[in-house]
Amino acid sequence: MTSGRGRDLDALLSTLIRDVPDFPKPGIVFKDISPLLADHDGFVLVVEALAAYGRDESGAVVVDKVVGIEARGFILAAPVALALGTGFVPVRKAGKLPGATYQEAYALEYGEATLEVHQDAFTEGDRVLIIDDVLATGGTVDATGKLLGQAGATVSNVAVLIELGFLCGRDRVKGTPVHALLTV
Ligand code: AMP
Repeated sequence: MTSGRGRDLDALLSTLIRDVPDFPKPGIVFKDISPLLADHDGFVLVVEALAAYGRDESGAVVVDKVVGIEARGFILAAPVALALGTGFVPVRKAGKLPGATYQEAYALEYGEATLEVHQDAFTEGDRVLIIDDVLATGGTVDATGKLLGQAGATVSNVAVLIELGFLCGRDRVKGTPVHALLTV
């Protein structure tokens, strides 16, 4: 487990990620990353910190693709892919991708959701860095890992901006290193 990349980043994230109580429903404290995205220096720092999880200790890139999870994961994962010199692959909610897809259903607090990825998104054995904004219960990242397994990819690392530690989401993501820039 890793958390943060130094005090500057911790301070920046604490300042630029806004808590919005009772959104989208009562009892949820929504982690709003809009102020961070609007701050150029903050955005650059965060993209660099997330991209580090696609490199080894010598700085060499060790992933073939970066996956972003709809929707805020896209905003973070696309610049991370550019920083690493890899392609970007979107994992989308059901019914949004035009081509043939693999699908993975997972449980939400109420009901079920399905994630999809294009069947031709990966070359067999592609090493993948998964990016999202928030790790909460871990259901979304867990389903994404299973989806990528169907698609023939290997998940090297999962990196998120914020982990809600009290929900123990990383316990659901077995066998894959999960990194958070900030754990609350
Ligand atoms: P989970 O599957 O429970 O880990 O939820 C993670 C997904 O839901 C991520 O794609 C997040 O964007 C979103 N999410 C869950 N909880 C929050 C929160 N408190 N603030 C912002 N986004 C959240």
